[in-house]
Order: sequence, then structure tokens, then C-alpha cells
Amino acid sequence: MLPIYVDLDDVIASTVKAFIDIVKREFEKPVTYEQITDFDLKKSFQLSQIEYEHLFEVVHRPEEILNMDVIDGAIEALNMWSSKGHPISIVTGRLTSTYDSSLEWLSMHSVPFDSFTIVDKYSRPNMDNNIAISLEQLSDMAFHLAVEDSSAMAEFLSISMKTPVALLDRPWNREIELNSRLTRYSNWQDLGREVVGNNYCLTSNRFS
Ligand SMILES: [Mg+2]
Repeated sequence: MLPIYVDLDDVIASTVKAFIDIVKREFEKPVTYEQITDFDLKKSFQLSQIEYEHLFEVVHRPEEILNMDVIDGAIEALNMWSSKGHPISIVTGRLTSTYDSSLEWLSMHSVPFDSFTIVDKYSRPNMDNNIAISLEQLSDMAFHLAVEDSSAMAEFLSISMKTPVALLDRPWNREIELNSRLTRYSNWQDLGREVVGNNYCLTSNRFS
């Protein structure tokens, strides 16, 4: 059975909500979740370059990573898929410096997974290429389904990699054009229910 690709930030981990708390604490800027309409956090939080660089440094600290909440329904759905025999591949674009703290967070929250891969999804600086794989290397991998929140990655997966994608609805991905392989879900409960309800590996048209 092909693995299910599951992104980490804002798919399993409640990352942007943690960032909102950090921005409030560090810069005294109150920003609401619905205001985060751009994947570029510098734009969404209306930060200066210096503020953005500070935020970028703070959010990658192990204590901030470990402090993130789990998104409601994620673990239940992953456990359900895992119990049906689907290998779970966590595929994140986080900086390679967060490798250990990310694994610690996954363990702390008993997130079921079979592999953990860092991909240089967004051409970020400071990625250790001994740890991260490239988008090209990701393209050589096959997944039964991918769960993402990033519009760019959802397009890459559904169009370039021809992988069915479940896009979790977020304020920053509402502009994306859906295609036959790209479906929007309002939350994990809806996604988990549909995938299991349709026994999609065998019968669902949407994911086959
Ligand atoms: Mg994400």
C-alpha cells in the first residue's frame, strides 16, 4: 500500500496559531487567524524585515516547536488510517535545524508515522542538504494521497506529481484553483470520515 503524505505545519501542528501568540508577545501586535491570508508571514503579520527575521529565529527554537498544539482531529484520523494499513509519511518543509525537536514533538503527542522527511519545499536558506531532500527527489516518490495546507505544494503534488491532494482549508489557501486531483476539506474530521467512509483505497473514484 502506498504511503499517505502528511504535511506537519498547520496540518498536524497548530503552527500559525503559535506564531500569532509569538507575534503578540514579541511585537505586541494582535493579529487574528482569519487575517493570515498570505502564506508569506511577513505580509500576513505586516512585519518589517527586522521583525520578520526575529520571528523566524524565535519560531524555530526547540521550546517554541515543543509548545505547539495539535490540530483537532489529526491524530484520530492518522491512527485510523494507520490501523487500516496505510503507512504515514510525514513530509515537512521545516528548517533542518528543527529535525530533533520536530521528532520529539511527534513523540510527545503520540503521532503515528512510519517515516519523517524534510523537503526543501520553499527554497529556504539554512537547509542542510545532508538532511533535507529536494522537490525533485520528492517527485520520485509515490503517495496514495497527500494532505497539505500550502497552495504551492498542493499544486506541485496534484499537477506535477499527479498525486491526489486533500487541502485542509486555511485562510491562506482560499485563492487556489482546485483541479480533479485537488479537493478542499474544512477539517480533519471531514477528511478522515470521507477517506474511511469510502474505503478509498479500493473503491473511491476521488482518490483512485
Ligand atoms: Mg504546512
